Amino acid sequence: MSELQVPTPCYLIDRTRLKENLAILDGIRQRVGCKILFSQKAFACYPFYSMMSRYLDGTAATGEYEAQLGHLYFHGENHVCSTVYRPEEMENLCKICDHITFNSPRQLHRFGGQAVAAGCKVGLRVNPELPLQRFSDYDPCAPHSRFGATLAQFPREDRRLISGLHVHALYEQNSDALEQLVDVVIRQYAGLLPSLEWINLGGGHALTRPEYDIDRLEKCVHRLQEYGLTVYLEPGEAIAWKAGLFVTTVLDIVENGLPVAILDASAVCHTPDVTELGYHPPLQQAVAEDKGRYLIRIAGRSCLPEDVFGDYCFDHPLQIGSQLVFEDMAINTITKAVMYTGMPLPCVAVKEPDGSCTVLHSFSFSDYKNRM
Ligand SMILES: *Cc1c(COP(=O)(O)O)cnc(C)c1O
Repeated sequence: MSELQVPTPCYLIDRTRLKENLAILDGIRQRVGCKILFSQKAFACYPFYSMMSRYLDGTAATGEYEAQLGHLYFHGENHVCSTVYRPEEMENLCKICDHITFNSPRQLHRFGGQAVAAGCKVGLRVNPELPLQRFSDYDPCAPHSRFGATLAQFPREDRRLISGLHVHALYEQNSDALEQLVDVVIRQYAGLLPSLEWINLGGGHALTRPEYDIDRLEKCVHRLQEYGLTVYLEPGEAIAWKAGLFVTTVLDIVENGLPVAILDASAVCHTPDVTELGYHPPLQQAVAEDKGRYLIRIAGRSCLPEDVFGDYCFDHPLQIGSQLVFEDMAINTITKAVMYTGMPLPCVAVKEPDGSCTVLHSFSFSDYKNRM
């Protein structure tokens, strides 16, 4: 079927765009000499993992389920860095992961020996205490953060268990922020680094954007390689950036000072970054504000007043049955969607390079019922 024929609402993953991002990352990894892992939480679409494995070194998980997906479907290294582990998870993770990072000295003490005995490389997440992000609510280095050991808390005895450090402190940033991060890590841990094997610089690197400064990344990586370290990056969003569409249909149009189009989708349930973070996604059928004669509010179908995608301008009025296609919708949509208010989940489909589309997953009432 063609893009116009997919059942809506539909998350439509564009294989061509995904491959373009992956090719950029593969190029960086080869040129810079670092390893790049796929951090799964933004886009854990395992039907693509086998293809993705050809471009990347492995996966990074934030918990057991992601680690299990990486183990089953991605051909490469399998790293996990979870805020906390339960004993029964540890047993499984020791079998399926090659790198296990602990978030606290106490967790390292409790489980580090078990992971080493199972043949895993063990890391400790550190907190550089350097706020580097624009959004303090999302900053893992904000005051009272639960993420990573500070320099003062760095363990002495259990130090022998670890072969690597993990630091994740960036979000959608260029390599100037990475440079600051590497400065701090070297300042704090220069004495320790030569005795380690690897360092993981986390995610939040906007590697696939045209303005990303790869030369500066290369310098950062080389500074750490001088200590004999294997350097890992684990971006998530950069991998599926602009690689997906959200295809919807207008079901009704009401008037209340403004025409309000009601879609067969929900912003709250299907694109939570729109309502939670104020993200205003590009809409293919909309035009620039100065060009459009029709200002129309695009709303979701739930009972929630805040369920609004945004106000958009059009050069023609919308009709019932019009298809509306949002762009840059692969990230934090499929993995974040919820069924609050009994909202049906969109199907997941792929658009192939020749334009043909295939549905990979669709959902039904039983998906809703089975969670209650
Ligand atoms: C979320 C996360 C990432 C990936 O971050 P992106 O912003 O998607 O690149 C990497 N590592 C850890 C520990 C994370 O929590």
